Amino acid sequence: MKAVIFSEHGGTDVLRYADVAEPAIGARDVLVRVRACALNHLDIWVRRGMPGVKIPLPHIGGCDIAGEVAKVGAEVSNVRVGDRVALAPGVCCGHCEQCLAGKDNQCRQYTLLGYMYDGGYAEYVKAPAVNALPAPANLSFEEAAAVPLVFLTAWHMLITRAQLKPSEEVLILGAGSGVGSAAIQIAKRAGAHVIATAGSEAKLAKAKELGADEVINHAKQNIADEVRRITNRRGVDVVFEHVGQATWEQSMRSLAVGGRLVTCGATTGFEGKFDIRYLFSRNLSILGTYMGGKSELFDVFELVARGELKPVVDCVLPLEQAAAAQERLENREQFGKIVLRVP
Ligand SMILES: [Zn+2]
Repeated sequence: MKAVIFSEHGGTDVLRYADVAEPAIGARDVLVRVRACALNHLDIWVRRGMPGVKIPLPHIGGCDIAGEVAKVGAEVSNVRVGDRVALAPGVCCGHCEQCLAGKDNQCRQYTLLGYMYDGGYAEYVKAPAVNALPAPANLSFEEAAAVPLVFLTAWHMLITRAQLKPSEEVLILGAGSGVGSAAIQIAKRAGAHVIATAGSEAKLAKAKELGADEVINHAKQNIADEVRRITNRRGVDVVFEHVGQATWEQSMRSLAVGGRLVTCGATTGFEGKFDIRYLFSRNLSILGTYMGGKSELFDVFELVARGELKPVVDCVLPLEQAAAAQERLENREQFGKIVLRVP
C-alpha cells in the first residue's frame, strides 16, 4: 500500500511517500481503507520526536481517520466489511479500572493511533474494532475525519470537565485552530456567551460565523484587558486554553472569581506562571484534560448527525502532499482542519 512514512525524526523533509506492507490484523481488529485523515499538532510532535518518548520507527502518523471497513477480525461483530466509519483516536487496554469506568483516556496504557501505533497517512490502517464508529451519513469522509480528536477534546474540556452552564461566559483561545473552532460551536450550543480570539481579521470573521459573540485580535490587543472591557471588569467563568506559555498569564488574569481554566495543550511552550495567592483568594480552578472518553464521541457524532455541530474543514490535500499540509499547520495558516484525501 501507499503511505507517508518517516524513519527518523526531523523536519517535514523526513516524510516519504512510499510503498509499505499492508497491516496484518488480529481477531478483534479491523482493517480500514482510509479515505481521509485530518491533521493534528500531534502529527508534528511525533514527526519531530519528543524527549523521553520512543516512537516506533519507521512510523506512519495521523490519528483522525475516516474510511471504509476492508477486513474484520474473527471476533469482530460491531462492524462489517464496507461500513463507512470514523475511528476513535484513543487506544486503551480495555480492562483496567479506568477503562471500565468509561475513562479510557485515563488508562495507563492509553495512546493514540498515529502515536504509538501506525496511523492514517496511508491507504490502510489497523485499529481495534471498538474504535470503529459509524460515520454520520450527512458527512463526506473529509468532514468525518475532521471530527474525532478536536470535537472529543473540546467536548470533554467544556462539558465534562469545566461543566459549562448556559448563563456563563467563556473565552475560547485560538478560534482558527481545530479545537478552537469546535469549542466555539460546543459552547454556543451549551448556551454560553462566547468570546473568541484569533490573530487575523479574516479568522475573527470566521469565528463570528461559527457563533462567537465577541472577538479579540490577539495579534493587536491584550487578551486580559479586552476580556475585562467586554465583561465590565468581571472576567469569564471558563477559559479554554491550549496555546500554553504565550497566553497562560493572560488566561489566568481573564478569569472571574470562581472561574475555571481548562487546558489540553501547550503548542507555544510548556511553562506557565501564576501567583498562588491569586489562585486561592479568587477560588480559581485549573483543569487539565487529555482527549476524552470514547463514549463521549457518541454524543459528539449524534450532534454532528443532527447538524448541530459542524466540522470545519480548512482545506483538503492529497496524501502525497502531507509535508505541505503539515507546514500549513506549523505556520498557523489554517482555519479549522487540514485534511489529507487518500485516493
Ligand atoms: Zn485501561
